[in-house]
Amino acid sequence: MKYDYLIVGSGLFGSIFAYEATKRNKKCLVIDKRSHIGGNIYTKEVEGIQVHEYGAHIFHTSNQEVWDYINQFATFNRYTNSPIARYGNEIYNMPFNMNTFNKMWGVITPQEAKAKIEAQIQEAGITEPKNLEEQAISLVGQDIYEKLVKGYTQKQWGKPCTELPPFIIKRLPVRFTYDNNYFNDLYQGIPIGGYTQIIEKMLSGSEVRLNCDFFEHRETLTKEADKIVFTGMIDQYYDYCYGTLEYRSLRFETEVLDMDNYQGNAVVNYNEYEVPYTRIIEHKHFEFGTQPKTVITREYPVTWKAGMEPYYPMNDEKNNTLYQKYLRLAAEENNVIFGGRLGLYQYFDMHHVIAKALECVKKELID
Ligand code: FAD
Ligand code: UDP
Repeated sequence: MKYDYLIVGSGLFGSIFAYEATKRNKKCLVIDKRSHIGGNIYTKEVEGIQVHEYGAHIFHTSNQEVWDYINQFATFNRYTNSPIARYGNEIYNMPFNMNTFNKMWGVITPQEAKAKIEAQIQEAGITEPKNLEEQAISLVGQDIYEKLVKGYTQKQWGKPCTELPPFIIKRLPVRFTYDNNYFNDLYQGIPIGGYTQIIEKMLSGSEVRLNCDFFEHRETLTKEADKIVFTGMIDQYYDYCYGTLEYRSLRFETEVLDMDNYQGNAVVNYNEYEVPYTRIIEHKHFEFGTQPKTVITREYPVTWKAGMEPYYPMNDEKNNTLYQKYLRLAAEENNVIFGGRLGLYQYFDMHHVIAKALECVKKELID
């Protein structure tokens, strides 16, 4: 055995594990099937602007340990996410707050907004929300559901809101204050200089092989290390023996524009179903850029098929039940650890992934 650990995937989970293991004198081989490190948090400089190649990545957390951990590797700026939602030529503030309610209904006070929402819940006759549609209506009322949730969500997930689980929409705050901050967390920001430098530092003590798909060299790679940390798709690891888990994919279309400011905000959501993309991000606004040019990315949701990037696990009941079967196989393994968004099949943000990776490090390398 040449290595203590073979780490499949150089995303955040795999890179934290590699960093902590090499710190403890373990020898790690990190492989990735992509041509670069960092997984979905990879950023690349274009025209002096850090471009988030796989969609907007805003770091946010209330977990002190996670915040201190990530701050070893970068300094974060003061960016606060305040997306704009566009429905036709109407502009609304996100997340749902008094600015949104005022624009939608002309209400001024929290009492008026609550009364309006309550009346719409009564009219819809919802008591116990069973799906995303009912959950959204019971949080923000019918009008906001129709304009700001229904089309966006159906595009994003490729299913009507009545067939989606309520938890997806519960990620978003609903506030009866005039506060456009998308997150409730204590800490938030974008790493100055981008995310890739964080991963470079984490992987500095490991051997890294890019353009290397685990499944193409499974036998030889497995022989090279004592243990495997696997952050790819768990169903693929088991050769889909119980069936395929569902994912949602995305297509990103990036353009450099010869103007200094395209949309005046980092994130603009397009909430009508008829517009094929869900959002346009303008990267320079994540870092208060003043460059003469700008870079924008349109994000198109796509039905996932084998061979595409599986960006989002579809955590509905059917898929979660199937995942539990794979989890039982994983629990039998002595030399394989599953981690990350794909290995654990969960809609994790970066701070969740860091917490999970540190938990794994503690169990595997410390306790
Ligand atoms: P990944 O980044 O997916 O890394 C897994 C790596 O494994 C990949 O590099 C992949 O190429 C590699 N791999 C897979 N299979 C194989 C194989 N067979 N062989 C070799 N290599 C393999 N989080 C936030 O906190 N804030 C945000 O604003 C935010 N926005 C997001 C926006 C989008 C569009 C998406 C998709 C995600 C967003 N996230 C956000 C979530 C964030 O991207 C994830 O939490 C984080 O990147 C997950 O890290 P990971 O290591 O688990 O997985
Ligand atoms: N959502 C919506 N309208 C919006 C933004 C989000 O209905 O303008 C819903 C949608 O279902 C989405 C979910 O809220 O999947 C979570 O949104 P978030 O911005 O957290 O999604 P992510 O950044 O993870 O894609």
